[in-house]
Amino acid sequence: KIIVRDLKKSFGANEVLKGINVEIAEGEVVCVIGPSGSGKSTFLRCLNKLEDITAGSVTVDGYDLTDPTVDLNAVRQHIGMVFQHFNLFPHMSALQNIMLAPVELKKLDKAGARAQGMDLLKRVDLAEKADARPASLSGGQKQRVAIARALAMSPGIMLFDEATSALDPEMVGEVLQVIRDLAAEGMTMVVVTHEMGFAREVADRVIFMDGGVICEQGTPEEIFSNAQQPRLQEFLAKVL
Ligand code: ATP
Ligand code: MG
Repeated sequence: KIIVRDLKKSFGANEVLKGINVEIAEGEVVCVIGPSGSGKSTFLRCLNKLEDITAGSVTVDGYDLTDPTVDLNAVRQHIGMVFQHFNLFPHMSALQNIMLAPVELKKLDKAGARAQGMDLLKRVDLAEKADARPASLSGGQKQRVAIARALAMSPGIMLFDEATSALDPEMVGEVLQVIRDLAAEGMTMVVVTHEMGFAREVADRVIFMDGGVICEQGTPEEIFSNAQQPRLQEFLAKVL
């Protein structure tokens, strides 16, 4: 469960998040949409404190991230994050990329990490690419390895920041399918996306951000078929 209370974030004089209040329940899938520069990535990065929080609080599964005594590394191990650019280690195979964090951070033995890594590769339909280096994988395959790598830490929460935006169109579907499967398994997820069709299909709730605030939120039906705020209506008219 994630509880965000009056979250504010400034970069110098530029206030990018202007008081975000939201609760995300266990197993809930929340898609965040909104124009470029509205603060979506900044919001996501505050959820695992990749950004310093200027004011307000973020509590993740009981850990208050603004409490200086909280062990951030422990919290972050509990939150998987997948970015637009896959950030795989180029000198390691797909399997080695996935094994790294469990061995280094969880002190899992190599055999155990390898078995778990192979299971995860099967789950993203890439078992045959275990020994391949990232450079020899397609964008969609790289992103599926990145998702498997995040899952290797058994996170309770997954954050996705435009995980399909850098992909060729024919590879978007295979990555969305992996995210869809995770949603069906009950993973708590916050998904920043430009894929409105996907948000409509998979989200329990859609949040529309504009100008550093949550301008409107609701079920996919409410957001996509019955938008109230003019800013959301304008946004949808551009992207749909
Ligand atoms: P996009 O859809 O283009 O990814 P976004 O909604 O994710 O946009 P953010 O990346 O959160 O938007 O950026 C919101 C604002 O914060 C922008 O004005 C951006 O310039 C500013 N910003 C983001 N990161 C930094 C940073 N590290 N330093 C200074 N300003 C930043
Ligand atoms: Mg962004």
